[in-house]
Amino acid sequence: SRLILKAENLKQHYHVKQGLLKPEVTVKAVDGISFNLEKGKTLAVVGESGCGKSTLGRMLTMIETPTEGRLAHLGEDLLTLTKDAQAKLRQKIQIIFQNPYGSLNPRKKIGSILEEPLVINTSLSKSERKEKALSIMEKVGLKAEHYDRYPHMFSGGQRQRIAIARGLMLDPNVIVADEPVSALDVSVQAQVLNLMMDLQDEFGLSYVFISHDLSVVEHIADDVMVMYLGKVVEQGSREQLFENPKHPYTLALLSSTPQLSPEKRRQRIKLEGELPSPLNPPSGCAFNGRCAYANDRCRSETPTLRLDSSEEQEQGHLIACHAVAEKRIGTLVEGAA
Ligand code: SF4
Ligand code: MG
Repeated sequence: SRLILKAENLKQHYHVKQGLLKPEVTVKAVDGISFNLEKGKTLAVVGESGCGKSTLGRMLTMIETPTEGRLAHLGEDLLTLTKDAQAKLRQKIQIIFQNPYGSLNPRKKIGSILEEPLVINTSLSKSERKEKALSIMEKVGLKAEHYDRYPHMFSGGQRQRIAIARGLMLDPNVIVADEPVSALDVSVQAQVLNLMMDLQDEFGLSYVFISHDLSVVEHIADDVMVMYLGKVVEQGSREQLFENPKHPYTLALLSSTPQLSPEKRRQRIKLEGELPSPLNPPSGCAFNGRCAYANDRCRSETPTLRLDSSEEQEQGHLIACHAVAEKRIGTLVEGAA
């Protein structure tokens, strides 16, 4: 399988002034994230709002420049390219946002919204642009007559189809989708997810699918990354994360997801308290204030993301937790038995 996007130790650290007399604080919005994304695959990035997942999405699409790390698209390092080469490559990595209405210009017709990226980035003629727009509209389930309509004439689900169509106009390899169905009714969510999966198959797209909702992720992900306060706490295949979750935070997220099967919610871990302020993160493991397994080591030493030693056969399942490393906690299923 072909490696499309490779991220190595990506970081986004902001320097925040808290007031005239207080010292500057470093906020580690994203703090060392690595992954490989292959052609036609979906990496889901999961976590509560404020965990850094949207910042990660903006870095992957170069809306924000990482403060550290490496990002390669088809082996080409995106961060060291000239501005021109970056702009060219950026076309291959598109982003779709949660609110399709906010991201569509209300004064423009669908046709011109879709053709705008072609006007800016290609030398296609007017008729070629229209032909391309109509063919992509058909792929996303829009009709030719929609070409001359305005965004407000469409439902939320249709508007998200328009946003997806716009993302496809430049034949991208990667689509970063930041909560693409969170604003939609549950019945419409399934339609848009199915559309995204069909388009993935047809065009060989790779997705980075950002979501707080594990029940959505379970449908679409090949690999899953769970983030907490800028760091990955657990990373692995969909099967590893859903059938054999290990990190207490992952367990808590799973047990608070009502749409998942009761079996997967057997070990009930209630997620108490709030995400700590990134301005003043806890020392040690950032989850220690909310974790039933926290001990002194957890409060002083930050756990590193590493393979679980008890499962050599499970390639690539990474967990950042002292209790898992010390075998103080078992798997979801063992815990429930
Ligand atoms: Fe809980 Fe400690 Fe594991 Fe953090 S390292 S998740 S506090 S057990
Ligand atoms: Mg797939």
